[in-house]
Amino acid sequence: MSANGPARNGSAHPLQPSELFGQNVFSLSVMRQVLPKPVYKHLLAIQDSGHELDPATADVIAAAMKDWAMARGATHYSHWFHPLHGLTAEKHQSFLIPTQDGGVVTEFTGANLLQGEPDASSFPSGGTRSTFEARGYTGWDPTSPAFLMEGRYGKTLYIPSVFIGFNGHALDKKAPLLRSIDAISKAAIRVLKLFGHDAKQVVTTVGCEQEYFLVDRKLFLERPDLMTCGRTLYGARPPKGQEMEDHYFGSIPERVLAFMEDLEVELYKLGIPVTTRHNEVAPGQFEFAPVFERANIATDHNMLMMSVMKRVAARHDLACLTHEKPFAGINGSGKHNNWSMADDRGNNLLEPGSTPQENAQFLVFLSATVRALHLHGDLLRASIATPANDHRLGANEAPPAIMSVYLGDTLTDVVESIIGGTEVKKKGAAFLDIGVTSLPPLPLHDSDRNRTSPFAFTANKFEFRAVGSGQNIARPNMVINAIVAESLHFIADEIEKAHKKEKDFNAAVRGVVQRVLTEHQAVLFGGDGYSAEWHKEAEKRGLANLRTTVDAIPSFITKKSVKIFSDLGILTEAELHSRYHVKLETYVKMTSIEAGLMSSMGATQILPAALEYQRRIASSIDETEDVLSSAMLTGQRTLLELLSQAIERFIERLQRLDQTRAEVPDSDDHLVAAKYFRDNVIPAMQELRASGDELEVLVDTRLWPMPKYRDLLHLS
Ligand code: ADP
Ligand code: MG
Repeated sequence: MSANGPARNGSAHPLQPSELFGQNVFSLSVMRQVLPKPVYKHLLAIQDSGHELDPATADVIAAAMKDWAMARGATHYSHWFHPLHGLTAEKHQSFLIPTQDGGVVTEFTGANLLQGEPDASSFPSGGTRSTFEARGYTGWDPTSPAFLMEGRYGKTLYIPSVFIGFNGHALDKKAPLLRSIDAISKAAIRVLKLFGHDAKQVVTTVGCEQEYFLVDRKLFLERPDLMTCGRTLYGARPPKGQEMEDHYFGSIPERVLAFMEDLEVELYKLGIPVTTRHNEVAPGQFEFAPVFERANIATDHNMLMMSVMKRVAARHDLACLTHEKPFAGINGSGKHNNWSMADDRGNNLLEPGSTPQENAQFLVFLSATVRALHLHGDLLRASIATPANDHRLGANEAPPAIMSVYLGDTLTDVVESIIGGTEVKKKGAAFLDIGVTSLPPLPLHDSDRNRTSPFAFTANKFEFRAVGSGQNIARPNMVINAIVAESLHFIADEIEKAHKKEKDFNAAVRGVVQRVLTEHQAVLFGGDGYSAEWHKEAEKRGLANLRTTVDAIPSFITKKSVKIFSDLGILTEAELHSRYHVKLETYVKMTSIEAGLMSSMGATQILPAALEYQRRIASSIDETEDVLSSAMLTGQRTLLELLSQAIERFIERLQRLDQTRAEVPDSDDHLVAAKYFRDNVIPAMQELRASGDELEVLVDTRLWPMPKYRDLLHLS
């Protein structure tokens, strides 16, 4: 391989991005070309209405899809879905069917397209499916296009799918997301109608900025913790971490740029519109951001992007880490989830408008989001709860676990004046004049950003910053859609009631907006989210501070949660319980794997290295005493003593961790085990790590059994 990684497309003249873009996607434009017109129109109608595809239409689409895929070298197809464990899953099936006479034919029918049957028993279900009835099916989601994934020797047709149990339960993250998109569409259409707009559909738009680390692959393979858990379980802070802050937006190292360029080609082929690439705050940390898309497609694309990133990194002898906190003491990675709503004409509903009417409408959508966050911040917190994200949230680098909303200075002035019934003073030219007395003028831009806020309004969208870098964004977006949909219905009801009482529609809207903002202003916060004062203040305001995953997950099964998700038809009580169980079970399993690995790395790697170093010092002192008087060796004896004490401490803590691992309470209730891990195993791991890191700075580097932070973090 050349220094720039593998040659692109095997050609001296690489294709332009515009030629590459979407080359491997069976997109709407491809379908318009290859499908008979009535079939294409029928598909569009189905995408808008959410109705099921009939078998005859499916047969025609499947045949066209197969021809398209095979003409490009595809040999297999796979339904591709998002099970509850948070990754994606696939089971490849060949297009070839053997015939009686020893030949083969190729086959891919409408039935193959519409439905696949993976063995569902090995996917987490949280108890909604007993093992004797271990059957579920995957079904094509016609709102997300099929695409080709290139392997080294062939290609596979991927069909984005939902995963449903035969009892009708959603066994995945995508089906609830699609239901939530439908729910918010209905609610938003209702509000738009009040303002005299006849929208057929409202979609949610999502653009998520993906942070990640790159480390040298050879070093990665020497770290069992990185390989197994995606994060380092031991590791002393390097002499140079991110103190100098010289990495952020710095020049991109050539090797990394080669990776990024190669990756972009792969992503363009898949129709993933990445546009921004830069260094992040920590050394070895980078970011990619795409142009926003519809939420379901953005979700598919983000999952695809993470898996392609890992594959392309390997080609460049790199390992791509999407874990939230690969290195202690150094910033972790997140995924800023930019979210908005748009009508079917592409109008952004969170864009302040240019007429009084538009601005009143904007304030309704804004107030609905504020109310949603205030009433259901616990659900939003739960939607991003993972053991990995626990290491990052609230660590003065990522937003705290307290969910609050930041509106920016100018919009805050507007909101305060609405609440207080006063007029906003014009500040500079950054205001749009709505020209009537009903509502104050609105800011056009508010460039001032508050990085410590978990949910910030940034000009014409909200940015949810607590999402973990390795997470599937389906769930947080599902929750945002659900809670905002509920608030939109509430506000629509209130406006209708108020409008009946007083004939002036504007006055009715103003009254409702004022009341909603007044009642829910406690969630608005523009100060430093990292500060201790905010933690105290938030408690006074009654905002939840659910510090760990174990604290947050029970929010999914409260009465309030069951009501909101079932009223909107997004998740039933049983489906919520299954998610609750899977989440807690995953917490226990992951923590248990990490604790086990930590123990074995301690016993079989760190301890032997430390003992060997101790032996060498001891024999060195012994041998030196033959030629020098022992009075001259006091420093060396002290060193040996310190090392020996550190080894003793390490052994003691290793034993304590093993003991806590052996005493996990045996209970059917996952919450009991999860709490035990949070309160006993994790603290024992932290103690052992401190001891291991203490040894790392004492022991001869040549004996240290794994690469250190300073090697991992500085790519050359
Ligand atoms: P930054 O937050 O780094 O300043 P930008 O403002 O450029 O970056 O946007 C960040 C992300 O927000 C991009 O992925 C962008 O596509 C996305 N975004 C912009 N507008 C919208 C929108 N209306 N809905 C959803 N995402 C959006
Ligand atoms: Mg951002």
